[in-house]
Amino acid sequence: MNCKDAEKMISPFLEDDLDNKDLAQFLEHMESCDECREELTIQFLVLVGMKRLEDGNTFNLKYELDNMLKDARKKLKARRYLVATSIVLELLVAAMTVVTVILAMTLS
Ligand SMILES: [Zn+2]
Repeated sequence: MNCKDAEKMISPFLEDDLDNKDLAQFLEHMESCDECREELTIQFLVLVGMKRLEDGNTFNLKYELDNMLKDARKKLKARRYLVATSIVLELLVAAMTVVTVILAMTLS
């Protein structure tokens, strides 16, 4: 992913609107690119920070953004786990179908 793509994804990221593949690449880019991380920080501040300040809450920008990135990584892991689990389940169902067919053929 290049910086242009990453910048386009900042707003969907902040709205939790990226799919697994994009999210993984986005997080990877944010870890390695200071410029995009700075852009993310600014947009995060605009989107979340301003709202917090309006609500009169204190706001620790760096802490909140770090948390959001951490959560996104966790979510990504959980989603990948779910995908892996559903693939395993599908394979199990397929295997059981085959076994059932073989049994039916053997018994008849
Ligand atoms: Zn970049």
